Amino acid sequence: MEFMKELGLEGVLSGTYAGEWISAEGRDKLVSFSPASGEAIGTILQTNEEDYERVLKSSTEAWKKWRMTPAPIRGLVIRDLADELRKFKEPLGKLVSLEMGKIYQEGLGEVQEMIDICDFAVGLSRQLYGKTMPSERPEHRIQEQWHPLGTIGIITAFNFPVAVYAWNAALAAVCGDAMIWKPSSKAPLCAVAVQNIVNRVAKRHDCQGVFNLIIGKGSTVGERLLQDKRVPLISFTGSVPMGRHVGEAVGARLGRTILELGGNNAVVVMEDADIDNAVNSVFFGAVGTSGQRCTSTRRVLIHKDVKDEFISKLVSKYQHVRIGDPLDPHTVMGPLVDEQAIIAFERAIDEVKKAGGKILYAGERIEGKGSFVKPCIAEVENHYKIVQEETFAPLLYIIEVNSIDDAIEKHNDVPQGLSSSIFTRNFHYAEKFVSPEGSDCGMANVNLGTSGAEIGGAFGGEKETGGGRESGSDAWKLYMRRLTSAINYGSEFVLAQGIKFGEDD
Ligand code: NAD
Repeated sequence: MEFMKELGLEGVLSGTYAGEWISAEGRDKLVSFSPASGEAIGTILQTNEEDYERVLKSSTEAWKKWRMTPAPIRGLVIRDLADELRKFKEPLGKLVSLEMGKIYQEGLGEVQEMIDICDFAVGLSRQLYGKTMPSERPEHRIQEQWHPLGTIGIITAFNFPVAVYAWNAALAAVCGDAMIWKPSSKAPLCAVAVQNIVNRVAKRHDCQGVFNLIIGKGSTVGERLLQDKRVPLISFTGSVPMGRHVGEAVGARLGRTILELGGNNAVVVMEDADIDNAVNSVFFGAVGTSGQRCTSTRRVLIHKDVKDEFISKLVSKYQHVRIGDPLDPHTVMGPLVDEQAIIAFERAIDEVKKAGGKILYAGERIEGKGSFVKPCIAEVENHYKIVQEETFAPLLYIIEVNSIDDAIEKHNDVPQGLSSSIFTRNFHYAEKFVSPEGSDCGMANVNLGTSGAEIGGAFGGEKETGGGRESGSDAWKLYMRRLTSAINYGSEFVLAQGIKFGEDD
């Protein structure tokens, strides 16, 4: 495929970058498969222990120089990276689609998100503001500065194989950190392609050691990164069970984490909602990326007065969804990432039936090549055990509610807290939903769905979603350490709180 060549993905590829590609033989091989065809699309040599040490050495050396490079100059590297990504938007979008299975339009959207966060980070490089504050002592002042942390670890999930790296990398780079990226083993070619793009830019600016890559099993190289005291921050994107382990492992060595974990996102549809808009948003939220976004719509809390109309319009949309090759421009829903994902989908539907839920639409595997399923709609009760979990697939739950208070109560009655939304024209309902007694998520939208965030706002969620924030707003502060300094520019020795110490009256 021509676009693979453009991205430098020919032959057996190294999965380790330590200021240069480590291409030594004798490494374990990882084969990447297309979820649409089931065919092998590339082979990567995985990182071993010796490689890991080289990566850490290279990034530590690079960081010593990078931390003293003025932030606006670091921003210029990211400005160039945005331009390089613009040049490679189409081939990279195609690769995302081929390897992860989301449709090409969404693949392009993912690369656009990388460009957007780079543009954001360029401006940020001149806005890493610290405060100054008045001192209670004469001829003193107090200031805060934000300094780089060191080499940080970035561990990413399969479902956003390039954008989530960029959210972290663009901010971390302007903040003056070096980084080691461990992508999901389900999308390693995307990582190698992105690293190739980054390398060209880093070479022009002589900062190759800042951006490093390791590829291998979570249980080996991932674990190595978690346990490594030389890595002050681990930014982890993935499932709740894995995130819990990351939090414990990094917390045990008193390292820092940014945890971006699973969601159980709901759309509330009130009796006065614009039903067509609500149906379109839920359709995109539940079927888009085959239900494999952290922000995918999993639950609809529908007011009893509009339930029948909403279900009938939604089912009709599901009946017409075009499922197939994600690179075909007519396709709306691609495959699930692998066989394991199909098994989890089927198991969840069985659980729904056992608990007494009613299947309103489909929900079965499509036999043949690739990991395709028909999306499912089921009417359930919020308290079912399976409804309380995140099933990473196109399985949508419909739950009836009878008032705004009932909707909010059911909305919040799940362990996760990522994204949420309400459809209403009623000012009181809308404001209540985003007030302290409303949605308990990290994100709450009004008259748009749970999925499809912009990079300007801080992204992340509460409760079991982990509490981390990435992307816009002031998320950058998590990639830096704060240094508070009190400065005496006078000639007197003065203690705070008026303390007299060893002085004669
Ligand atoms: P996952 O938890 O299976 O894997 C995530 C990453 O952890 C992968 O890179 C994996 O190799 C690595 N890993 C596995 N074992 C490890 C270990 N012992 N030490 C260190 N790393 C280890 O998740 P996934 O299936 O790739 O992604 C889907 C999940 O990610 C869903 O739950 C989804 O909601 C979540 N997600 C969350 C966000 C967010 O921003 N909140 C964004 C995208 C995905």
